[in-house]
Amino acid sequence: MTKSQIKISKKIAILEALLAKEKNFSEAEFSYSQFDNFISGKNKEYVEISLRMNFYLTLKKLFISKRVNIYKLFSSYFEFSREGNALLKSIIHRSIIERVAIFYYYTRLMKNYSLPKSDDDDAALTILERTIMPKIVRGYSQTSIDPEQLLKINDIRGVRLRNLETRNAYDTTPLNILTAIEKLDRKVIGTKNSYNILSNFAHPNFFDSMTAHSNQSSELNEFGDMVFNFVMSAKKPFKVDPELSNILGLTDDILIELVEFYLVIILESEKYIREAKAFCKNLVESDLQFYVNERAFKKTGLRKGTKCPCFSGLRIKDCCGKHLF
Ligand SMILES: [Zn+2]
Repeated sequence: MTKSQIKISKKIAILEALLAKEKNFSEAEFSYSQFDNFISGKNKEYVEISLRMNFYLTLKKLFISKRVNIYKLFSSYFEFSREGNALLKSIIHRSIIERVAIFYYYTRLMKNYSLPKSDDDDAALTILERTIMPKIVRGYSQTSIDPEQLLKINDIRGVRLRNLETRNAYDTTPLNILTAIEKLDRKVIGTKNSYNILSNFAHPNFFDSMTAHSNQSSELNEFGDMVFNFVMSAKKPFKVDPELSNILGLTDDILIELVEFYLVIILESEKYIREAKAFCKNLVESDLQFYVNERAFKKTGLRKGTKCPCFSGLRIKDCCGKHLF
């Protein structure tokens, strides 16, 4: 092993240790089809109460799916680093930055909206419905393409897009990835530079000789400058390690800082998801309360022993209906 390889494998070991929990997390199975099965065949009232959980479930899908995919990228990153495949490692690294930037963007966004204190808080509920939900849906599907437009096209080289839902309140303003990366760069200084360098590596107009080689040593141009100096425009300029001449090694250092920051925002997102769950369960409880008060509980097909519409898997009387009977 060369000195440079030893350095790289140390960095991978640090990242792997930091992300150990995420490995377990991403390997756990998430099946959302179970929710569809759960409400199929149930009566109208039951389905309506279940829909109260929609905000929580969509939010959960947004953050969990992004976390799982970020970890999937990391496992490939580890693999290609070990193989010394600079090109694929760089492409994946770049994608990790984009995805963590988006994750941070949505965590920040959610923190800016506090959840309604009660189901009587009409103003807050309106914000939730008209502002927050569309943003979450937007983040989840991660596209600036209007689904209604897609449905009109409906056929892209024979691929029919049948199952795409249309949503009236869908926010189609494109989210520029650079906006998210700039916000992240304020927290993890150097991320933007790192992203610029990796983007250049990823493109076919860059020096392919540098990425075709497992040894990512830098080259001097005809003026004796490092060829990548032009992409460095920033607060934390890269200093090229004269011994290793390993510019990608510097982006790896920043990646370690990025992961440390990512682990903090994961906790923040989890906290918000927990709050959203409690809020939605309150809505379920007050719906159940309504039917009990109206003496219409049994007519709606609900029973104390029915599985709770909040998807907990518990019976109503042991869950959101605990205080009602
Ligand atoms: Zn419940």
